[in-house]
This record gives sequence, structure tokens and C-alpha cells, in this order.
Amino acid sequence: RRTQVGIVGAGPAGLALANALTRQGVDCVVLERASRVRVEGRQRAGLVEDRTVRWLRSQGLADRLLVEATRHDWCDFRCLGHTVRVDYGAYSGGRQHYVYPQQSLVRDLVATLEKAGSPPFFSHTVRAVTNITGRRARLECEEGMEIECDYVVGCDGFRGISRAALPATGHRVHNRRYPYDWLTVLAEVDRPAEGVRYAVHRAGFAGMMPRGPRLSRFYLQCPPGEPVTAWPARRIVAELRTRLADGDPAGVPAIGALPEVRMLRMHSSVLTPLRHGRLLLAGDAAHVLTPSGAKGMNLAIADAAAAADALVARLRDGDEGPLAGYSAARLADVRRVLGFSEWLLALLHLPADPAADPAKELAERLATVRRLATPGARARAFAHRYVGSGVR
Ligand code: FAD
Repeated sequence: RRTQVGIVGAGPAGLALANALTRQGVDCVVLERASRVRVEGRQRAGLVEDRTVRWLRSQGLADRLLVEATRHDWCDFRCLGHTVRVDYGAYSGGRQHYVYPQQSLVRDLVATLEKAGSPPFFSHTVRAVTNITGRRARLECEEGMEIECDYVVGCDGFRGISRAALPATGHRVHNRRYPYDWLTVLAEVDRPAEGVRYAVHRAGFAGMMPRGPRLSRFYLQCPPGEPVTAWPARRIVAELRTRLADGDPAGVPAIGALPEVRMLRMHSSVLTPLRHGRLLLAGDAAHVLTPSGAKGMNLAIADAAAAADALVARLRDGDEGPLAGYSAARLADVRRVLGFSEWLLALLHLPADPAADPAKELAERLATVRRLATPGARARAFAHRYVGSGVR
């Protein structure tokens, strides 16, 4: 079998890329290890940025999202018993987040590929990507399928195998481990979270993200390396109440069953460069950020958009330029976004240093979030970076 672009992985990056290429008449094949039911059922991200929606719209991929997503243009910070509302929509020229579960977007992207007659091959595990500096790269599947490709895009997530095809020298991975972990919890709630709430608390950070009328995602800062078993449901709910409500019980919905509780080891990892020969990397296969600022899925789709443009220019018009610039351009964006995500982490967590004075640290954070809520250059810069307006 032969194709112009072989895509490993049917997450947001691989599916967005396949849709964009198919729309431009470039032949591609998506191979996905998991079953369709599993891929379409994975609950992860939920905040879609303004620039992501604009791109999806331009590709005719946002119809259902625009009808069903709820829009958000403010977030609350709770600190020292005060709630500070940051109207980032107002400071970014009216831009908004769209709350739309990742699995809904994934379903939409699979459906459009199906309609175009080129659905992903589910339950096909790529075992190796080979010959990436030869005349044609090759994808080899455990199920026996082999595909020759002009280009391969590794969209196979953080634990994917595409990276293994890179030469041992010439590539670097920049890893960072943060001095805390996050318990991430999907919880049933008695009413929808009105918006995102970040609590900066003496006991540690807690966050609440809307996910729909009856579900919210919550985050709780924990000591690094703590096992998830240290957090029975009753402790989770009590700690969320303490940190998120912090004297304002009306600000947090009642929490019921917890369908998903996981411990997230907080780290980031960025590979450089993102291309070698006929292999490009995109999405979590290339860079993993913490959930701080809700950037991962949005970066994955921004990579896909850039990779699609570059591959169309090369394969349809013979123009090598955008492909040559793919890695540098995407890494510049990734570093900018990572910088913002880390700035937000520093705001939300008190230093582990025992010499630090928590009262002073909390007072400083309250002053900072108040500045984000006050018209001016700081509020505008935060708003644009948080909502992902594409304005630097
Ligand atoms: P993935 O979604 O990981 O997809 C990779 C695909 O490749 C998978 O389907 C996998 O099965 C497949 N694969 C792997 N190996 C192979 C192989 N050998 N052969 C074939 N297929 C293979 N991001 C946000 O923007 N906003 C948020 O609010 C947000 N919240 C999050 C909350 C949680 C709890 C988590 C875990 C993540 C969150 N993220 C968020 C991050 C976001 O979910 C990821 O960044 C996003 O899924 C990355 O998309 P991707 O396509 O690069 O990779």
C-alpha cells in the first residue's frame, strides 16, 4: 500500500491533520492502535481556545462545536477569602474559550473523515517507522499492514513509537519535573460550574473546570510522588471544599460520584527539533505540558494546522519552504505557551521552601490576580495568552 502522508495516531493532532490534508486533496492514511470506541470515549481536555476554533471553522470542522459548546470569557481566582473575577474576554477584544469535551471533537473529526471516505484504521498498532531518510518512509503495523509514505507524521502521543525512529544524536528532549503532583478528578456535580475557578490556598492549589451540565473536572495539588490510594473519595471532596470554597460555599457545586480519579505526575517535556527527513512530530508526541492553562490539545491542533500547510505546499505545489520552517515555527509557539503555563503554575502554587512565609506569599498572589482584573497592559497580556487569541 502507498500513500502521500502516513499518520500515526488518531488523537486530536492526527485527526485534525488528516481532515486538513483530505480537504486539500492530499492522500493520507491514519493508523490508530486503540479501538474506535476507546478513542471516542477518552475524556480529557475541554477548553478549546479561540484560535483553535477559528482554524476548525476555516476547515469546516466546527459546525457541531459552534452549536453545542458553551462559551467562557472569565475565570475566578479565590485567595485569602476573596474572589477575584478576571474578565479576560473584555481584555482580549471579546475572545472566548469554548467548553467542548475532547471526545466530542474527536467524534466530529472521525465522522468527517468517514464522510470523505477515508476513516482511520482503528485497532492498527504501528510497530516501527523506518527509512525516514530514504526515498520513501515506511510504516509497519503489528497486524501485518505495511505502508510506503512520502511523509510520516507521528501524532502518537507522549508514549508513542514515532520518536524511536529519530537518530540517537541530533535531537534533545528538555524535561522538567515540578515539585508537586496533581490529583485529577472527574466528578458529578449538582449544577454546572459557571466558570473556571483557581484557588490559591495555604493547603495547596485546587482548580475547577466546567465540563458540562452534570460533570466538572477538578485538580488538587499533592506532594510529589504521592500514590492515588492516599486519596479516598471522602478526602478528595473535603479537600476540594476547603480549598475551592474557602469560606464561600455557594461558589462550588455539590460534588457527587467521582467516575475518574487519577494522579498526574507534573512534568513537561519538549523535543527539539520536530522533524527528521520524512518524519514530522506533532502534538503530545512532540511536547507535553501540564494541564496548567489548558494548552495541550490546542497546541496539538496548532501543530496539525502547520503540518498540513507545510505538507500541502510540498506535495501539491513543490514548495519546500514551509516544511523546512515547520520545526522552528512550532517550537517558538510551544515555548511561548510553555512559558505562560509555567507562569500560571508559579502563581497557583506556594513555594515548597520552608523558609517562605505563606501569609506573605498569599498576599502577593492576591495582589497579582487583582492586577490581572484591573484594566491595563498586564490584564491585556494575560487575557490574550490565556484565551489563546494568537496575538503575542
Ligand atoms: P493523543 O490524544 O494522546 O493521541 C495519540 C494517539 O496515538 C492515541 O489515540 C494513541 O492510542 C495513538 N497511538 C499511540 N501509539 C500508537 C501506535 N504505536 N500505533 C498507532 N497509534 C498509536 N489539553 C487542553 O488543551 N485543554 C485541557 O483542558 C486539557 N485537559 C486535560 C486533562 C487531562 C486529564 C489530560 C490527561 C490531558 C488534558 N489535556 C488538555 C491535554 C490533551 O488531552 C492532550 O494534549 C491531547 O490529547 C494531545 O493530542 P494528541 O493527538 O497529540 O495525542
